Amino acid sequence: MVRRNTIQREVVLRAVKSLHNHPSADEVYAYVTKECPNIGRGTVYRNLNILAEDGELRKAQATDGPDRFDHNLMDHYHVTCVHCGKMYDVDMEVISDVEERIHDKHGIKYLGYDILFKGVCPACQKEHEDKKEEAING
Ligand SMILES: [Zn+2]
Ligand SMILES: [Zn+2]
Repeated sequence: MVRRNTIQREVVLRAVKSLHNHPSADEVYAYVTKECPNIGRGTVYRNLNILAEDGELRKAQATDGPDRFDHNLMDHYHVTCVHCGKMYDVDMEVISDVEERIHDKHGIKYLGYDILFKGVCPACQKEHEDKKEEAING
């Protein structure tokens, strides 16, 4: 039983790494069933959460919609496309002293922060361009 769980966990972890795009639990499930058609949705969800608890995956908070799972364990920021909702890593160094810059007047105990950028991904930019061209050319 232990062995079986390990295999399922590996399959789930490999799926997140292969998808490479901060998939939601549903997207991981859809991908995993291609390889293991008999795997249950609950099993995939459970293993994703265990992997996140064990630090083998990270959860990436989206502004709306479900949590995403990230195989990149380094500290980094995310940008989500405002059109399709896909999440990408931001190519920049993490600002290390954000919390040290706070001059707290409210007695807040700060626990952390999330920085989430908004943008338009290349595919959606292109789609937008195509639509503009269609409008011009009829
Ligand atoms: Zn997009
Ligand atoms: Zn990421």
